[in-house]
Amino acid sequence: MRPVVTEVRGDSRLPNAVDLVVIGGGIIGCSAAFWAAEQGLRVALVEKGRIAGEQSGRNWGWVRRMGRAAAEYPLGIESLKLWQGLNERTARDTGFRRGGIVYAARTDRERAWLAGVEAEAARFGLAVARMDKAALAATFPGARLSDTEGLMTADDGRAEPALAAPALAEGARDKGAVLLTGCAVRTLETEAGQVSAVVTERGVIRCRAVILAAGAWSRLFCGNLGIDLPQVRIRSSVLRTAPVKGGPELALGNGRFGIRPRLDGGYTVARRGRTPVQLTPDVLRQAPRFARGLLKNRREIALTLDGSLIEDLRTPRTWQGDAITPFEACRVLDPEPQGAILARALRDVAQAFPALDGVQVLERWGGIIDVTPDGVPVIDHAPGLPGLVIATGFSGHGFGLGPGAGQLAGELATGRTTLVDPAPFRLDRFGGGRTATARQGAIAQPPTP
Ligand SMILES: Cc1cc2nc3c(=O)[nH]c(=O)nc-3n(C[C@H](O)[C@H](O)[C@H](O)COP(=O)(O)OP(=O)(O)OC[C@H]3O[C@@H](n4cnc5c(N)ncnc54)[C@H](O)[C@@H]3O)c2cc1C
Repeated sequence: MRPVVTEVRGDSRLPNAVDLVVIGGGIIGCSAAFWAAEQGLRVALVEKGRIAGEQSGRNWGWVRRMGRAAAEYPLGIESLKLWQGLNERTARDTGFRRGGIVYAARTDRERAWLAGVEAEAARFGLAVARMDKAALAATFPGARLSDTEGLMTADDGRAEPALAAPALAEGARDKGAVLLTGCAVRTLETEAGQVSAVVTERGVIRCRAVILAAGAWSRLFCGNLGIDLPQVRIRSSVLRTAPVKGGPELALGNGRFGIRPRLDGGYTVARRGRTPVQLTPDVLRQAPRFARGLLKNRREIALTLDGSLIEDLRTPRTWQGDAITPFEACRVLDPEPQGAILARALRDVAQAFPALDGVQVLERWGGIIDVTPDGVPVIDHAPGLPGLVIATGFSGHGFGLGPGAGQLAGELATGRTTLVDPAPFRLDRFGGGRTATARQGAIAQPPTP
C-alpha cells in the first residue's frame, strides 16, 4: 500500500542538454536538484516512478543529529541547519519543525547504547539532556513508559515525508529545473572516458555531470557500469493513525517502537528492534563485506526467506541502453507492510500512551531501505568514471541528512568547496573499484525520444 504523498507532475519535454542530471527523485536527488538549480545550473531530475515514491515518502520523518555514527555527525549538523531554511527557500511547507526527539531505554543493553549515544553527542558539541524516570514522566505526561532513562535533543526535529521531497522538486522547477517522472535512466554514455550523456527510456540527455541518487537501485545501476557498490535491501513497515489528542508531543524511540507526532494531528508509528533481512543470491554474494555488520547487529537482525529470492534471480544484472531495464519493470518499490510487526508496535504504543488505545489506523505501508556494510552512505565520485557522483546507501537514516547530502553531492559533481569533509563517505573504504569490463558507452542504439 502506497502512503499518500504530494503528487508532483512531470514535465513533458526532455531537454537535449543540461549541466547536471540527477537520477532519482527521493530526498537526496530532490535536494541535489534544488541546490543545483539555485546555483543557476541547468538541471534535469529524472525519476523512474514518482517523486518520493520510495523511501523518501515512506519513512518515519525523524530529522535528527543524535544517535548518528561519528562519520555522519558533521553532515547531520549542517543538514539540520539547512532544514531550518527550506520552507522559505522552496516557498513550500516541508513539514519541518524543531519538535525534539527522545531516546529511552529500560534494559542494560539499551542503557549502554544510550551511554554511547550521549558520549558521541558530547564529542560533537550537541546539547543532549539526560533524563531519569521523573524527567521522562514530566516530558510525556499521562504516559506509562516502562523505560527508566532517556536522552533528549530539544532542537532535533521532524518533517513530513509526504511533503518534503515534493517541495524540493517543485522548488527546483521554480528555479528552472526540468522534472521527468515515470522516466527511467537506463545507463550512461561516455566520451574519452568521461560521462557525456544519460540514456533514459525517453531519449538521451547530454551532460558532463550526473548524480546517482537511486536509493535501493543504486547497486544495480552501478553494477551495469562495472562499479561495485556494496548495498543490501531491508524491508520495514510503518503505520499512521488518525488525529488523536493527548499523545506525545515529541518523537520517541525506545527498544520497542518509534512514534512521531504528525502535522495532521495523528502519529507515525513503527517497530524498533529486530529487523528482517531477506536472503537473496545478491546478499550471499556480498556476505563477506556485510559479515562484520551482521555479526555486530546479530540480535537486531533476522535472516528471512521470501519472494525477493525469486525476484533477485530474475533480475538482469547487465543490459544495453536500448533494452528495457529493471528500473522500468518496477516503477515504485512497494512491499507489503508486515502486519504482525505493526500490530505489535501499535500494542506497545497503546500501552505506553493510553491516549492512543483504540486509535484508528489510517494507512499501513512497507518500505525498502538501502544499507551499506557500515551503515554510512556513499557520497563520492564514481571510481574510473569522471562525471558521475554517487550519493546513496543512507542505511535507514537519510531523510534527515537529505538537504546536506544533496548539496554535498552537488558540490562534488560541480567541483565546488564542500560544506563538510566528504572523506568519511568515500566508496573505496569498502575496497573494490571499477572493473575492466565497464560498460562505458555500451549502447547499441540509443532510444529515440
Ligand atoms: C520505513 C522507513 C523509515 C525510515 N525512517 C527514517 C527517519 O525517520 N529518518 C531518516 O533520516 N531516515 C529514515 N529512513 C531512511 C530514509 O527514508 C532514506 O535514507 C532516504 O529517504 C533515502 O533517500 P534517497 O533519495 O537516497 O532514496 P529514495 O527515496 O529511495 O529515492 C530513490 C529514487 O530513485 C529512483 N530511481 C532508482 N533508479 C532509477 C533509475 N534508474 N532512473 C530513475 N529513477 C531511479 C527510485 O524510483 C526512487 O524514487 C527510513 C526509511 C524507511 C524505508
